[in-house]
Amino acid sequence: MKQLDIQGISKSFHQKVVLANINASIRPGEFVSFVGPSGCGKSTLLNIIANIESANDGEVLFGGKNIADQDVISFMPQQDLLLPWRTALQNIVLPLELNGVGKKERYKTGAEVLRQFGLDEYMHHYPSSLSGGMRQRISFLRTYLCNKPLMLLDEPFGKLDAFTKMEVHRWLLNSWEKGNQTIIMVTHDLDEAILLSDRVFVMSKQPSTIVHELSVNLPRPRKLNMLASSEMKM
Ligand code: ADP
Ligand code: MG
Repeated sequence: MKQLDIQGISKSFHQKVVLANINASIRPGEFVSFVGPSGCGKSTLLNIIANIESANDGEVLFGGKNIADQDVISFMPQQDLLLPWRTALQNIVLPLELNGVGKKERYKTGAEVLRQFGLDEYMHHYPSSLSGGMRQRISFLRTYLCNKPLMLLDEPFGKLDAFTKMEVHRWLLNSWEKGNQTIIMVTHDLDEAILLSDRVFVMSKQPSTIVHELSVNLPRPRKLNMLASSEMKM
């Protein structure tokens, strides 16, 4: 059963073909990654799925219908879009606020996830005073709390040091285990893609197509076991 259907997506910028006929079908609850060299068009593809960019050809369907007509995506873009006039905590609770969650409850939830990410002492800091890695975790948490059926992550953990990344990977695998969200991650890190996802689509350099599709036969509990053996405080 497929949920998301990426059909024949092509995209050019100034006559230069960046994406050349990208096709992929993704099942509900699947975690897939698109991996490829810098500049091959990974962000462009994700932006097209998120309907921020338009394709020259092809379509993206969710449940058989145009995805652009549905409110099903939470998107973490490569450049974070944190609101500079809001603190870390206020940024994170924004999706809860938009969903009508009461103030007390949303701040409680926000403070709890910040604690899990080792960021509680920064909750009242503004984005401008935080490091790139911190902003990236905050941006990820805000996307995560949107809680939509499809989560799009563009190089979500690239600015994190190895230990923090490991903790965040474990947190994501654990949390995702509980929900039934479909996740599409874009990364240039093949190891990260293999660790986290069920399926990896490998893209060539531009004009980019999918040159390999790799199924990862590593059940989530086994992945968590691998990460759990290296437990430490962030
Ligand atoms: P990746 O995320 O894989 O590193 P991008 O999707 O960001 O790659 O970019 C793919 C190619 O498309 C690059 O050559 C980039 O310069 C070009 N590109 C991306 N966005 C634009 C744009 N808005 N206008 C012109 N060229 C663009
Ligand atoms: Mg990119």
